[in-house]
Amino acid sequence: MSQKLRDRIARYTNLDAPVGFEEPVLKAAREELAACCDRVEVDLRGNLYAFQTGTDEHAPLIMITAHADEIGFMVTSILENGFLRFTKLGYPTDTVLPGQRVRVLADGDVAEGVIGVKPAHILSADEARQVPALSNLYIDIGATSAEEVASWGIEAGTPVTFVGELIQTRNEHRCFGKCVDNRAGIVALLEIAEQLHENPCAASVAYVVAVEEEIGLRGAEVAAQHVKPDVLFVLDTVPSGGTPDLRPDELPWDIGKGALLKVREVKGLSTQRPLRDLVRQVAEEAGIPYQWIVDTAGITDATSAQQASGDIAAMVIGIARRYAHSAVEMFDLRDVQAQIDLTVAAIARITSVDQLRRL
Ligand SMILES: [Zn+2]
Repeated sequence: MSQKLRDRIARYTNLDAPVGFEEPVLKAAREELAACCDRVEVDLRGNLYAFQTGTDEHAPLIMITAHADEIGFMVTSILENGFLRFTKLGYPTDTVLPGQRVRVLADGDVAEGVIGVKPAHILSADEARQVPALSNLYIDIGATSAEEVASWGIEAGTPVTFVGELIQTRNEHRCFGKCVDNRAGIVALLEIAEQLHENPCAASVAYVVAVEEEIGLRGAEVAAQHVKPDVLFVLDTVPSGGTPDLRPDELPWDIGKGALLKVREVKGLSTQRPLRDLVRQVAEEAGIPYQWIVDTAGITDATSAQQASGDIAAMVIGIARRYAHSAVEMFDLRDVQAQIDLTVAAIARITSVDQLRRL
């Protein structure tokens, strides 16, 4: 089971789909959702929707969303000697950029490259202690002139991604690679859709593969207004604690300890009590491992979707991953399985909007 799930996540992390260039993920997901949903459509923004009709027309409409995009970069200018200046798409972690392998996504053939790194031999003591400014960094794709770069189809506006295929550790449950955020969530969404196709529930479900999360939670905002669900579950990753560089109270959750039930994002999401209680009760009864968390730093599409759509009960069912927004995000497959199992069980339990009323 674990290996099948890992291979599916590996297939999706191998796709390069930075913010605004999500087509490879959208196309792959559309094909898989069309096989298990009644209807599939795409909006102008790029969001992909797939709908399953439930067995009870009076039951709530539930939206499940995972974002397709990944953090990356964009070429801003080309230097005469063939190096590329660039900006960030989303928020890659600055400290990991020098020396990083990247892929420049020119139309047609991609160009492999590296973000240049000044040799330790000639760094001043001051420089050695500092993170270089983005404006001083550059990408080297082996070109020798601006003309050569242009002939390879690369220009200002060309997107760039990290390179980082999914690697299995000696621990059979743990892997690391690029864009685990949020291809793990995309795969969870697909698995949930397939399970509910096999065993339909009362509620109707709208699956949304959302675009442009990493640059401001934008796609889901549009999608929530389009779907107008009663209930929203967001499948996403959350930076993990549990490493030696974090105090235990900074991010008091870890990989391998179950799905994350996030009930509050300080910049937005507020999960109302009946939904909190329902999902927790489902997890307890089914014996699905979970960690109950309040996020004081990060936000997800749950925040923008809840604010955009208004009258909506929303919750994040996520997973923790270490080394967020680097090319080596590490996670535990058992957490993804718990995320899938818990979401399916919670959806099956929701049969009426009245279950979720606060008064
Ligand atoms: Zn994410």
